[in-house]
Amino acid sequence: MIIKDSFLEEKYYDVIIVGAGPAGITLANKLEEKKFNVALIEAGSEDFSADSQEYYIGENVGEFPQETDVSRLRMFGGTTGHWGGSSRPLDAYDFNNWPIKKKNLDPYVEEASKIIEVKNEFREVPFPNSKNLKIIEFQVSRVRFGEKYFNDMKNSKYIDLFLNTNLLEINGENGKFNKANCLMNGKKINISAKLLVIATGGIENSRILLLNERKEQKLFATKMPIGEYWYEHPFSELGKAIINEKIINSYLRTDLNHFVNMYHTGDASVTYSIAPTENFIKDNQILNSCIWLVLHKRTNKGWKNLLKDLFCIAPELSNNMLKLIDRKVSCGATLYSSWEQEGQKNNKIVLSDKIIDKNGYPGPKIIYKKSNLVKRTAKVCVEEIGKYLIDYNIGRIRANSFLFDDEESFISGAGWHHMGGTIMGDNPKNAVVDKNLKLFGSKNIYVAGSSVFPSGGHANPTITIIQLSLRLAEHLSKII
Ligand SMILES: Cc1cc2nc3c(=O)[nH]c(=O)nc-3n(C[C@H](O)[C@H](O)[C@H](O)COP(=O)(O)OP(=O)(O)OC[C@H]3O[C@@H](n4cnc5c(N)ncnc54)[C@H](O)[C@@H]3O)c2cc1C
Repeated sequence: MIIKDSFLEEKYYDVIIVGAGPAGITLANKLEEKKFNVALIEAGSEDFSADSQEYYIGENVGEFPQETDVSRLRMFGGTTGHWGGSSRPLDAYDFNNWPIKKKNLDPYVEEASKIIEVKNEFREVPFPNSKNLKIIEFQVSRVRFGEKYFNDMKNSKYIDLFLNTNLLEINGENGKFNKANCLMNGKKINISAKLLVIATGGIENSRILLLNERKEQKLFATKMPIGEYWYEHPFSELGKAIINEKIINSYLRTDLNHFVNMYHTGDASVTYSIAPTENFIKDNQILNSCIWLVLHKRTNKGWKNLLKDLFCIAPELSNNMLKLIDRKVSCGATLYSSWEQEGQKNNKIVLSDKIIDKNGYPGPKIIYKKSNLVKRTAKVCVEEIGKYLIDYNIGRIRANSFLFDDEESFISGAGWHHMGGTIMGDNPKNAVVDKNLKLFGSKNIYVAGSSVFPSGGHANPTITIIQLSLRLAEHLSKII
């Protein structure tokens, strides 16, 4: 049910979950199934509001391309209020530096797929005659967690939903949390429980712990790398291509789910999702990656399209001619990529000394820079696809110059995927939570969401976040 202002502070919950995005809602629903009493604390309301969103303002230092109040949503349902829904679990080799492995999350993929209402089909097939490349499958979810679950929460017997309730401080002693100090519609309240789970998203999880680390209560281990090893998925157009569509379709068209109109190009473009194989990644010492080869459907035919393709791969040479014929050139194919960025200690979230939120607490400051390995990964993968197209005479790529020119700045977007900051590991020297997502040094505080990923491959993170929440629910059910 929804808790209004008449909340009785004497109520003692089994679990407090802070944050009603996919991480928090999934966990709350699973604990409800086991009849545990849950307080789900959500800073925003049922709908978007600019007033709530303002609390998300932060500071960026370095290369991070997105504003912190745009790349997430502070409302019930969390950031899925405007997510894209692309989904694919991580590859087995993405878990190399995790304390758990893919096999520990696989048991939850079927249920996670049901939650986001997609087929549990994330297949891959090798490129014909290639050991280095494969075609992979994504599914696209249309679920918005806010819309899907609001009525369930309203009618729930076991979940008390606190809207417009901002977690301010965590209280307790000797490693044991006992009370969450919150501001509910401007009024201070304390909510008590046996366990606390922080599920406030990939920036806020770090910020909340950093704010509470400053207090003297010793609720968790000191000197952990809170906020550190924060990373994203760089996203960039990598080039244009001339492609013999008929041949490439005969090579690459499979019964896998291929994106259509992925980049809202206004055409019915078919997209092949191409990834390097594990051996190729190892041999070339690169990161994981996905390259989308978008074949645009075009209206005009024949020589005009051929000419457009030529212009696309030789734009400077053909600039003047282009003006004579058609100002708008749509090339036959574009290569985009979203790929892995490794977690690095110096890429981190710290507390800002410039941005103070409306409750008087420092906002987040993101310090972020991409390594040479990130750029080399994109280059090596594009070159490999280029070689394949030449070998089979299917097409030619004009890769973007930043990949080859060390002097040219490498400005990329980001996937809207905030990962790291409270990473999972075996030891508080280089991690923040253990393999059960419990904060090191704490008896009863847990963290859920992509902030716990020690590495994030190339795949969109939300299905993995949900798998982790399902696993956490199972773990908590045994210890409450
Ligand atoms: C434009 C865009 C497109 C995306 N597309 C995809 C995609 O295609 N595929 C994919 O997998 N992922 C995508 N994502 C990422 C996806 O939305 C996130 O991975 C996912 O929402 C994270 O879930 P979460 O529950 O950890 O955090 P969130 O969804 O961010 O939820 C956190 C919740 O915590 C609440 N909260 C924050 N602070 C407090 C506080 N102090 N007290 C109480 N509550 C608090 C917030 O209001 C929010 O409801 C996209 C994101 C964006 C922005």
